[in-house]
Amino acid sequence: MDTKKAPKTRAFFQKIKEWGQKISEWVRKYDDAHNYTCDICGREVFGGERVCKQCFRALPWNDGEICPQCGRRVKEAGVCLECKARPLRTDRARSALLYEGEAARLILRYKRGQKYLYRAIADLSVPLIGREFAEAEALVPVPMTKKARRARGYNQSLVLCEELSRRLGVPVLDAAEKRKETKPQKSLGREEREKNLEGCFHIAKRSAVNGKTLLVIDDTFTTGATVSELADALKRAGAAKVYAFTVTSVEDKTAFGKPPKTSGKK
Ligand SMILES: [Zn+2]
Ligand SMILES: [Zn+2]
Repeated sequence: MDTKKAPKTRAFFQKIKEWGQKISEWVRKYDDAHNYTCDICGREVFGGERVCKQCFRALPWNDGEICPQCGRRVKEAGVCLECKARPLRTDRARSALLYEGEAARLILRYKRGQKYLYRAIADLSVPLIGREFAEAEALVPVPMTKKARRARGYNQSLVLCEELSRRLGVPVLDAAEKRKETKPQKSLGREEREKNLEGCFHIAKRSAVNGKTLLVIDDTFTTGATVSELADALKRAGAAKVYAFTVTSVEDKTAFGKPPKTSGKK
């Protein structure tokens, strides 16, 4: 491609993408007003819920034994080895679902353009947040760099925060900025992820954060490095307590008595 034309072409495709997103949002709004279908299986539902009863029951709920610190499902009761080795900077983290099957697919669809899924995801999140984090004074989204936000068209964490705020009556505090892009975290362990994220969050609204009990909202907890790094920045800016809620988390399948893996963790 002619490199001089590239910016114009990019802008053109960006416009088309924006229009595509607008149209799908209109279609969704029309759909909302006229009928309801399950956001997972597409079956018709009659109670106005976003996820039908069958799909709701079949979801991989994060119940059973969980680590009291990171909230991941663990093989045996107690603090997981990863948290013993490297405690998170969050005071407590919890997640509603395991990052598996339909729950993982829902998150991927939500992050890959199907923005309307924030309502289904909020439905699945509200009960746990109400139960576990009633003392939170504000919901804090995980920021994206401007470039990453432009590429996706929205910050999925902020969109979810706004919906949760409407449902729970707790304000959104969009206090942090992400100034530098970080490497993809996929193949890194907690320690390497922490290094990768070091200093990437900047708290612009320090006075709004000072002395507050905050709840960071994110979609997935893998090693917890992202919420931990953001909690660290918020605490350095004066936050009293920082909790984290993630919609899903990756189960810790390490048997007790074995040292945690430091790399190659999914
Ligand atoms: Zn369904
Ligand atoms: Zn843990």
